[in-house]
Amino acid sequence: MKEIIRNKTSIFISDSVLELFERYKQLGLTDNESGGILLGQIRDKEIHILRASTPNKFDKSTRYSFECNKDAALVIINFEFQNSGKKTIYLGEWHTHPEKVPSPSGIDKSMIKEQYRKNKLNEPFLILMIQGLTDLFIALWDGKKLHVK
Ligand SMILES: [Zn+2]
Repeated sequence: MKEIIRNKTSIFISDSVLELFERYKQLGLTDNESGGILLGQIRDKEIHILRASTPNKFDKSTRYSFECNKDAALVIINFEFQNSGKKTIYLGEWHTHPEKVPSPSGIDKSMIKEQYRKNKLNEPFLILMIQGLTDLFIALWDGKKLHVK
């Protein structure tokens, strides 16, 4: 488990999620980007990322882009919500980058803002995670600013 704290907000990422990111690192020279959605729970003021969805055949991906299929994501969100006694919710998006220390592209920033606008969110933020070849980028979009963790 990994814990990130800044501005009094703690984000916990479960081992299974970290292991999943590890598996999808773009270590091969022709590996495409991978990605999916982040699911978890809010306990007190702590954000717990408990699950990340894996890429599916409806997603669009190239070496330098990833577009998560929203219909497939919605099925997962509803399933996890019902199977957790309505505790596990959609918390954000993740994808990989073929660079050591990843930083979000302009498209990544517009994507997280659009998701924030379009979705009826339970919480007033969304998390963006990008797994690079070595580092993991984590940021929280609160509707006004992207807070890099
Ligand atoms: Zn990206």
